[in-house]
Amino acid sequence: MIKEFHEKLINQEITSEKLTEDYFDKIEQKDGEIQAYLSLNKEFALDKARSVDKKIKKGEEIDLLAGIPCAIKDNICVDGLRVTAGSKILENYVSPYDATVIKKLKEEDAVFLGKTNLDEFAMGSSTENSAYQTTKNPHDVSRVSGGSSGGSAAAVAADLCAYALGSDTGGSIRQPSSFCGAVGLKPTYGLVSRYGLIAMASSFDQIGPIAESVEDAAIVLSRIAGGDKNDSTAIKSAETVYENCLTGDIKGLKIGVPKEYFAGVGLDPEVKNIIEDAIKKYEKMGAEIVDIRLPSSEYALATYYIIMPCEVSSNLARFDGIRFGQSIEKEAVINENLILQDIFFKTRAKYLGKEVKRRIMLGTYALSAGYYDQYYKKAQKVRALIRKEFEKAFDKVDVIVGPTAPTPAFKIGEKTQNPLEMYLADIYTVSANIAGLPAISIPCGSARIEGKELPVGLQLMGKWFGEERLLNAAHAFEIY
Ligand code: GLN
Repeated sequence: MIKEFHEKLINQEITSEKLTEDYFDKIEQKDGEIQAYLSLNKEFALDKARSVDKKIKKGEEIDLLAGIPCAIKDNICVDGLRVTAGSKILENYVSPYDATVIKKLKEEDAVFLGKTNLDEFAMGSSTENSAYQTTKNPHDVSRVSGGSSGGSAAAVAADLCAYALGSDTGGSIRQPSSFCGAVGLKPTYGLVSRYGLIAMASSFDQIGPIAESVEDAAIVLSRIAGGDKNDSTAIKSAETVYENCLTGDIKGLKIGVPKEYFAGVGLDPEVKNIIEDAIKKYEKMGAEIVDIRLPSSEYALATYYIIMPCEVSSNLARFDGIRFGQSIEKEAVINENLILQDIFFKTRAKYLGKEVKRRIMLGTYALSAGYYDQYYKKAQKVRALIRKEFEKAFDKVDVIVGPTAPTPAFKIGEKTQNPLEMYLADIYTVSANIAGLPAISIPCGSARIEGKELPVGLQLMGKWFGEERLLNAAHAFEIY
């Protein structure tokens, strides 16, 4: 889609201004129902589009992404625009700077249509934890779009943007992509700078693309990847042009199928069949299918749901009613008896949502003296074990496949009363974050439920910084 738009732009068959206006029209028609966007930046976007049109008229060379409208998850900072992270505590907060990924996209003249909905501070699997709205699944509006990047995935699926950025801490790019029928890539930890991403759990967080095709995801990745002096964990230099690695030839590629990913009780039988068919398809394409074992997989979810809240409790301490966002400070001035701690407590009590509070409390508990060894330290040990198992597995295979999520999109409201059930939606995605591996979800079929076709995603995981091979394997499936 990106290349087609690019061709049309440089051949002057369409202007970026028209393309951008068309997207805003579609948003106006459809987003009342889908509710993918939290805010739109019409003037800002059209200004940029017109400036790209001028460049084209002058015969200047433009990048593939120039003039092409995209959507940005609302936990990524864009200078001068509101960034809420889906929380009331940042309701009126305007970012004073650009995230590194935004800076990079701006250098390529990308057009930003608006900011998309997410679970509050990216904590959730359905966008139902957003303080603002629930994003509907474009395939069935009685179902969730997935989360936390549900707004971005739904915007791509409903064609309300050409591509989008999401963030993935435990599956937030891949799971909504699976639910909405989009392609979602979580890059290797350290490939894309996290500077300007509102932190959830810093040792897991990565920004990545959600797109209509693997090629589009590769094009975006090539432009957002690379080391950054503002993020010491972004270590890889940006030399690879990922879209040029998509040959579609996967003969001899070794694909690992972990037994554990198919033994779980929660795996929907129809999803299981679709994934097994996808694996057979790979075999027909010339890949070698290898049975592998990842025995510690069964501890992945528990490990994630210990370490993640610990990091959340630390990262969210900054939202204290003093430095960022909303505050009950004004009330404090009226009531002279309020002390500093009251400002912290009351601001956080009033403006943070239930799930965010739950995780802050869990994390604080797991980090407290006496429990630290029992929970946090132990989880870190299991994390090392999981990572080692992947290292061993990748001695034998090039990529590992399985389902992205155990079920297709579930009904709105179905899991909101039971957080543990909601957490189970992440069972297949958290391992890649625990180990820091790159992983992609691609559409591989659909399940027919209540008369609707609901997309099912296939997850492929690659070696550390093995995005070239991973993307090529995904691309091969798509074009087969
Ligand atoms: N659904 C997972 C969670 O709630 C993942 C979130 C994410 O990747 N941001 O933690």
